[in-house]
Amino acid sequence: MQDVEALVVSHYRSSLVERIRANGGTLEAGNLKVKLAKEFGFCYGVERAIDLAYAARRYFPPPTRIFLLGEIIHNPEVNEQIRNMGVVSLAARPTADELARLAADDVVIIPAFGTEVATRRKLEEKGCILVDTTCGDVMSVWKRVRQYSKEAVTSIIHGKAKHEETKATTSQATANGTGHYLVVYNLEETDYLCDYILNGGDREVFLARFKRACSPGFDPDLHLRSVGVANQTTMLRGETEEVQRRIRRAMEQKHGGEALGGHFRYFDTICGATQERQDALHRLLQEPLDLLLVVGGYNSSNTSHLAEMGEKQLPTFFIKNAAKMESDHLIRHWNQHLGREEETRDWLPERPLIVGITAGASCPNNLIEDAIRRLFELRGVALQTLLPDAGEPPV
Ligand code: SF4
Repeated sequence: MQDVEALVVSHYRSSLVERIRANGGTLEAGNLKVKLAKEFGFCYGVERAIDLAYAARRYFPPPTRIFLLGEIIHNPEVNEQIRNMGVVSLAARPTADELARLAADDVVIIPAFGTEVATRRKLEEKGCILVDTTCGDVMSVWKRVRQYSKEAVTSIIHGKAKHEETKATTSQATANGTGHYLVVYNLEETDYLCDYILNGGDREVFLARFKRACSPGFDPDLHLRSVGVANQTTMLRGETEEVQRRIRRAMEQKHGGEALGGHFRYFDTICGATQERQDALHRLLQEPLDLLLVVGGYNSSNTSHLAEMGEKQLPTFFIKNAAKMESDHLIRHWNQHLGREEETRDWLPERPLIVGITAGASCPNNLIEDAIRRLFELRGVALQTLLPDAGEPPV
């Protein structure tokens, strides 16, 4: 593992980022100042998942076949690197054809967000060798929802129903054959749920609204009597707290304060790394900034929440790599509300600017370095003149 860790570090580290960090997180040249958030980039769970994927390739050299369920993490560059090692991607929930092509002794890597119970079972039945990189923080959520199910408490999960992690978590809620779950995405859905808890409503309309976000056989008239709230590990902390507050209030109104313990449970399952990155950005946003760059994969949940925090306060550009800064007149960036990239023109005005930078837990430092370099390049400043040996290859 030590050899592999060194290799991973050499692929993804950035001596420039380390030096800016050592310099208090700022870098200034001409009329441009860059400020980095105190915490950003790779989290412990992502580092471990990548290390294990590299180790798997080394431990099982060709001709052993290695497959990966979906993506190791939500970052296109990192996934490309894993593919370049000869690891073949399968769907996160492999198709029947993909399963049929797998043989005993094939190696299958389970990504950091985990996999669904049924998928794991099928791979075990095939006799595949599983390299499980599921993050410990994700497994803590699983433990919680399994406990809810055991006690006939319906899991209300604040998360994105389509996200791999939430799919894996909901499969844990139903693994015992009797448990139920409902996934709420935002406060609007939470309010709708609370209104149903308090006043009832049209069962069919409710089920249509949560069609792909509740357990098979879920009945809102039966399965909302005792609920336990948990969350996808990478949600926005403030929103998750508000979701649980509103559901708690509804259950208290419905059943009375004294009986609340029998009808409502809550465990905060936001992971430490997500929390640290959100807190660090919150602090950065207290400082004077003209614009914010958020670097990371567009399908990364924790990164999209960082962008959401920024856009409430100042012009925020969510980019997956430095190439998206085409010129000082044009940037292509992800609009998560519309689910597509859009263009903004004249995004980097000539006047003195302070640019904040952060990145999600799945973004390696070398991509952050690329973004910093590009920013200064657009200002006509070569970083070599600023940090004379910044261009040296990583050690
Ligand atoms: S974001 Fe949190 S839950 Fe996800 S891999 Fe990182 S530490 Fe684990």
